[in-house]
Order: sequence, then structure tokens, then C-alpha cells
Amino acid sequence: MSWTIIGTWRMALEGIEKAAELLSNGESSGNAVEVAIKMVEDFPYYKSVGYGGLPNENGEVELDAAYMDGNTLSIGAVAGIKDFKNPISIARRLSEEKFNSFLVGQGAEEYAHKNGFERMNMLTDRAIIHYKNRLKETVNKGLSPYDGHDTVGMVALDLDNSMASGTSTSGLFMKKRGRVGDSPLSGSGFYVDSNIGGATATGLGEDIMKGCISYEIVRLMKEGYSPQEAADKAVLELNNLLISRRKKAGDISVVCINNKGEFGVATNIEGFSFVVATEKLPPTVYTCSVEDDKTIYEIATEEWMNDYIKTRTAPLKLK
Ligand code: ASP
Repeated sequence: MSWTIIGTWRMALEGIEKAAELLSNGESSGNAVEVAIKMVEDFPYYKSVGYGGLPNENGEVELDAAYMDGNTLSIGAVAGIKDFKNPISIARRLSEEKFNSFLVGQGAEEYAHKNGFERMNMLTDRAIIHYKNRLKETVNKGLSPYDGHDTVGMVALDLDNSMASGTSTSGLFMKKRGRVGDSPLSGSGFYVDSNIGGATATGLGEDIMKGCISYEIVRLMKEGYSPQEAADKAVLELNNLLISRRKKAGDISVVCINNKGEFGVATNIEGFSFVVATEKLPPTVYTCSVEDDKTIYEIATEEWMNDYIKTRTAPLKLK
């Protein structure tokens, strides 16, 4: 028996440190994923998840989140929810509902309110400065504003061999009101089955959902592929399919683990990072690059780690 947890991007680190403690003490994968993602949602300097997340084109922070239980296959999700502190917890609660388990906008907010979830204005002053600067740099110059996102997605395996997965995001920066990406969509942004394994994705939701990539990775692991083989194959195939049919593929990055706790990662971009912790490996940040259609990764350097926090927390001025 062993435990493992994996998460997208360096921002997953603090949450995974806490989750590693919980998992090693026998806590459930579901609790570990929820606690870890809440920590990412609560940190104001991560500008693509929860509090401090970047707004849509109307200046409103609309959040998407999902939760999946790998034993029961129960799924709960919210999309376009405003003014609630922890969308992941609302998604998890919804996963207990037999009906109405994926709610959007006002319906999600009413459910959260009725069930006592904490309200909060999720738009920070820093996010407003980002928004105004982006308007100036793109829309006001006739350029596309759609660049900049990052979802936290996690998959965990606990000592009871139960698995869970969760995602949380503010989605595409400057998105249209009501736009929903892959992150709350089962099979696209996440999927987990405790008998096989789980996967979660980050990148351009509009393209990720064209390949239902998280489900595809779990399906490949069921066929016998290792997590690394499954991740590489799924990303390469979707990337090539999009290029052949549409001339262009958006950003696609995935992480996955199987039910033995082995992990895999794949990306079609430079600069993807992820975090893993297992019984034998303390929480570790890796950075990825792509060589000959294969994703390779190495432990993030101290310089990279220092630079990451510095740029995230650097003072921001209106341009
Ligand atoms: N996949 C998310 C979305 O499209 C954003 C991201 O992960 O970068 O909403």
C-alpha cells in the first residue's frame, strides 16, 4: 500500500505539501485533493485560480471547478460561479447529489448559498490592474486577448487504494461571460477510476475538450499503457489531430497516476511545471520540455523556484 498525489503547475506545491502530510497519516484521497486545491484557491497571488483569479471581459471573476470520486465515479462540478470562496468544495458537495450535480452560474450560487458555503468577493485589486493592462495591450490595439490561463488539477491515491481528482480555475483570461472550459467537464479536464488511475489537464479548454483527453489517458492505462506512455500518446495524438484538421493546436498539458501510484506527464508547450509527492518522494516540483515528441522533465532548479515566487508577487503597476 502506498499513496501518491500529483498536481498541475508549481502553484500546486503548498497544497500538495499539506496533502502529503494528510495522505501519509491515512487520510482519504478526496480530503487530500480538496484541502490541497482550497489552498491554491485561497492564495491571492495565483492569478488563474480562486481568490485573485483573473476576470472575464466584463471584469467579473467567474470560476469553474470539479471533483470526482474514483470509487463511486461520482462527479460534481460548478461553472461560471461568482463570489464564493472555494468552488472545489462546492463541486465536491455536488458530487454527493444523485441529480443536479453540475450547476452553472446563478444555479450554482443558489446551491452554494443554501448549503452554507462561504461568500467572498473574489476580484482583487491586483487582478483589476492585470485586467486593465491587458485591455490596453490587446483589445485596445485590436489584438486577441486570449492568452494566459492555468488550471490547478490534481489526482491522488490514498492508503486504502481509493483515488480522487479535482480541478479549479478562473478559465481563460478575458473570456466571454458564460464561457466554460474543459476544467469542469468530466473526461476533458479530469477523470479518475480507482481500478485504473486518473488524469487531469490544463491548457486551452476549447482544444482539450476536442479530445476528451483525461478520459483518453485513463482508457489507455486500462489497455496496459504506463502512465507516462499514456500521457505522451494522448497529447501527441490530440496535438497532431488538431494540427491536421485545424492547422493549429492550443496548449495541452496533462498529469496522471495509475492505481499503483506511478505517474506520467506530457505537454505540447515549453514551460509546463508540475508537483508530485509519494511515500518515497517528498513534494517535488518538476519543469518540462519536449524533445522528439516526448515530454522530459527535471527537478526545478533553485533559481527557477526563486524566480517563480518573485514574479508572482512582484509589485504591479498600471501601464
Ligand atoms: N483549461 C482551462 C480553461 O480553458 C485553462 C487552463 O488550464 O489553462 O478554462
